[in-house]
Amino acid sequence: MRTAISPLVVKQPRTLKDALRMLRDDGPLTPLAGCTDVYVGLNFGTLRDARFLNIWGLDDLRGIDVRGDVLRIGALTTHAEIVRSVLVRRRLPMLAAACREVGAVQIQNRGTLGGNIANGSPAGDSLPVLAAAEAFVELRSAEWTRTVPFGEFYTGYRKSVMRPDELITAVEIPRVEGAQWFRKVGTRAAQSISKVVMAAVRASRPRIALGSVAPTVVRARSTEEALAAGGAIEEAQRLLQDEISPIDDIRSTEAYRRFVAANLLMQFWTDTAPRGRARPGVNRRTR
Ligand SMILES: Cc1cc2nc3c(=O)[nH]c(=O)nc-3n(C[C@H](O)[C@H](O)[C@H](O)COP(=O)(O)OP(=O)(O)OC[C@H]3O[C@@H](n4cnc5c(N)ncnc54)[C@H](O)[C@@H]3O)c2cc1C
Repeated sequence: MRTAISPLVVKQPRTLKDALRMLRDDGPLTPLAGCTDVYVGLNFGTLRDARFLNIWGLDDLRGIDVRGDVLRIGALTTHAEIVRSVLVRRRLPMLAAACREVGAVQIQNRGTLGGNIANGSPAGDSLPVLAAAEAFVELRSAEWTRTVPFGEFYTGYRKSVMRPDELITAVEIPRVEGAQWFRKVGTRAAQSISKVVMAAVRASRPRIALGSVAPTVVRARSTEEALAAGGAIEEAQRLLQDEISPIDDIRSTEAYRRFVAANLLMQFWTDTAPRGRARPGVNRRTR
C-alpha cells in the first residue's frame, strides 16, 4: 500500500521549538498536518517525499482567538473547528461558509487551514476568503517569525514565499467592514473540487477574490475599481471575464468558468445590495 508510512521517515517533535529545529537541522522534511492532501499525493505517486515532520500534535498551532482587533487562527485549526467557532461566524462568516464546503465531514475534521494554504491549490476553498479578507500568514523558522500579506504569499502555481525551514503557524485577519459573501460552484454537495469559487466583501471599496480561474487565487482588482467608482455591474462582469485566466481541465472548461464567474459577480452584487435595490430573478443555485 503506497500510503503506508512505515518505510518512510517520520519525525515526531514534541514542541513547536523542536519542530522548527528539526526543519533547520534535519531537513528537508515535509510537514504532516491533517494529511488529507499528503496521503492523496503519496497514494497517487505524485508526492515523492520520503522524510516527514508530524506536526499534528503541536497544540500551540491550534485555536482561534481575537488579539486587539485581529482574528487569529492557528494553522492546525481544522475546517470543522472553524465552522463551529462563534468568533469566526461573527467576524468572518465567509470563512465559516468556505470551510463548510471543504470535502465532507471526515475531511473537515482532519483538514487544517494551514494545510489548505500550504498545499496552495488554486481550488482551495479558504483561499479566496483569505484574499478578500486581506489576511496575513504568520511563518516561523527556528530563527525568526515573519508575517506575509496573503496577497503576496503565492508566487505561482503551488509556489509560495514559504521557505523549507518555515512552518505556517497562524493566520491573522483584521476586522472586515462590509457585507461578506461566499459561493463555491462544484459538481455535487460534498467531496467536489470547485469549478469556480468566489469570496467578496461589499464595502465602499469592494473586494473580490476567486479560485480555480488562474494558477493561484486572484483578486479581481479592475473589477473592484470599476465597482468602487460606481460602474455598472454589467461592465464589471465584462471586466471580470477579461481579468481572469481560467483553463480547460477535467472539471470544467475555460468558457464555462468565465461565464460562471460573471454570474457569481452578479449574484454577489444582488445578494449584498442595500435593501430595496436587489434585482429579482437571479439564479441562486450554485450546483
Ligand atoms: C476527499 C477529499 C476532498 C477534499 N475536498 C476539498 C475541498 O472541497 N476544498 C478544499 O479546499 N480542499 C479539499 N481537499 C483538500 C484538503 O482536505 C485541504 O487542502 C486541507 O485543508 C489540507 O489540510 P491538511 O491539514 O490535511 O494538510 P496536509 O495534507 O497535512 O498537508 C498539505 C500540504 O501542506 C503542508 N503543510 C501542512 N500544514 C503546514 C504548516 N502548518 N506549515 C507548512 N506546511 C504545512 C504539507 O507539508 C503538505 O505539503 C480535499 C481532500 C480530499 C482527500
